[in-house]
Amino acid sequence: MVGTDDLELARRWTLVNAQRHDGKANLQAVIGKLIAEKPELKLEIEELMQIVEELVGEINRLSLEEQRSELDRLGPPEKLKVEEERRLPELPEVDKYPCIVTRFAPNPNGPLHLGHVRTALLCYEYARKHAGRFILRFEDTNPANARSEMYDLIREDLEWLGIGWDEEYMQSDRMEIYYEFAVKLLEAGDAYVCACDPARFKELRDESEPCPCRELGPEEHLERWRGMIEGKFEEGEAAVRMRTNLELSNPALRDWPALRISTSSHPQVGNRYRVWPLYNFSVSIDDHEMDITHVIRGKEHEVNELRQKQLFDFLNWDYPTVLQHGRLSIPGTVLSKTKMMEGIEKGKFEGYDDVRLATISALRRRGFAPESLKEVILNVGMTKVDSTLSWDTLSTENRRIIDERANRYFFVPNPTELRIHDVPDLDETHLRLHPDHRERGDRTLPLAIEDGSLIVQITTDDFLKMEEGETVRLKDLLNFDLVRREPPEGKFSGFELLLDVPKIQWVSSDPVEVWVLRPDGSRDFGFAEPAVRELSEGEVIQFERYGFVKVEETEPEIVVIFAHR
Ligand code: GLU
Repeated sequence: MVGTDDLELARRWTLVNAQRHDGKANLQAVIGKLIAEKPELKLEIEELMQIVEELVGEINRLSLEEQRSELDRLGPPEKLKVEEERRLPELPEVDKYPCIVTRFAPNPNGPLHLGHVRTALLCYEYARKHAGRFILRFEDTNPANARSEMYDLIREDLEWLGIGWDEEYMQSDRMEIYYEFAVKLLEAGDAYVCACDPARFKELRDESEPCPCRELGPEEHLERWRGMIEGKFEEGEAAVRMRTNLELSNPALRDWPALRISTSSHPQVGNRYRVWPLYNFSVSIDDHEMDITHVIRGKEHEVNELRQKQLFDFLNWDYPTVLQHGRLSIPGTVLSKTKMMEGIEKGKFEGYDDVRLATISALRRRGFAPESLKEVILNVGMTKVDSTLSWDTLSTENRRIIDERANRYFFVPNPTELRIHDVPDLDETHLRLHPDHRERGDRTLPLAIEDGSLIVQITTDDFLKMEEGETVRLKDLLNFDLVRREPPEGKFSGFELLLDVPKIQWVSSDPVEVWVLRPDGSRDFGFAEPAVRELSEGEVIQFERYGFVKVEETEPEIVVIFAHR
């Protein structure tokens, strides 16, 4: 028996779940939380499902405001605190700053993938939690790799995810600011223009020896700086370096380059500039100038961070609070931007939204809901240890969300024709668009009957599993016995619902040809029921017993993309 305590627990979790998802709790998600908290409830699963289903209906009818005040009154479930602490641990040093400011700073040299969602989402959530500001900053100071189409794609991905930003900047718009600081540092002798051969410079640096340029005075360096801007040096011939302590134990921290020459055309500003700041330089200036209080980044930036701290010290600035997260990987999936872009250039992948990739555009194309991606990523949380995510986890979460939304249709991949004899005269049948939602209405499946025989298409896989004489049910229609395999023929054996016979999908009259693009890049061909013709592009549906798919094209032929089972 589900007890009164359990009822109250269910109510609390339903309220929490509704609050997290725009006021709409999800039955499966709430059940998941309850079982995780009290595994013994598994024994009462049927009763629990009924209770929670009613509860979800009731709570989803309340306004967000009403839900919030009820949750305040009841208090959150005990386990919530533990969960929140893992998902979004308390932000350190909050009291140090008047307003919390975070930034997501993608380089527009490739598409966003799930790893980026983590950084962006954490920055966004922390800013929201503390009523602060969240900044989107395009770090596009490498003209050779910034791509014009990426700016909009990144904006589109973030908007789709519901990660809204308060301010937006492009570093390529801020060049004068970087120049100003470069001059200031050159004047102060904290930076110098090095015109050494890079290999020679490296030899000296590794020995903690100054290069000959380092010894010159600020005047000479300012002269060289103007030369860089005016074109007296070619690409690779001169760079502004920070004048650090050459005795530092890590050579990467000694006299690192801050600005360099690049003559490639830039997608935003063309050939207006030929001296460009490198990442560590521009990121530091901007983090300070934009009053960033908390930098949330991958731990691969550890050495970069040390360089940035050196620059902050030169400028007498306080370095923001940093939170580092570990790497995220999905076994079997390329997440590296460089590898992805290489694959696209070589034609291995079709584009940024190739179904084999875990880019946001690919996931969107496959019918993943933004809520599911955010939920999975928040569950990975703010940990510094590396995390692996599986497609199973992503699919399970997405199924929870879209199962309710997706209407059902019959689809028969790799079809075989079967004739069933002695079928009573029928011309069509009607089935619900969604088993739990009568209000959505029905779909009509017309039946092709010729001389008392029903002609249907069934999946060859199902057909191969049948034995002669076996009784099989055409789902939601009738039962037949397989009479012979060659040609495939059966005999009608009744309408009653038989529980222990195989139930298979079928289509009969007026089938629609459908191509399914699968996540490994292969394609399935099959017939779907005629109602599929009425679907619009972008709809996410379930082909029963086959999987969830998103309609991508309806003309000239129907193409759908497979999400998951
Ligand atoms: N543009 C950098 C990146 O995409 C930002 C890293 C950071 O400083 O947080 O990795």
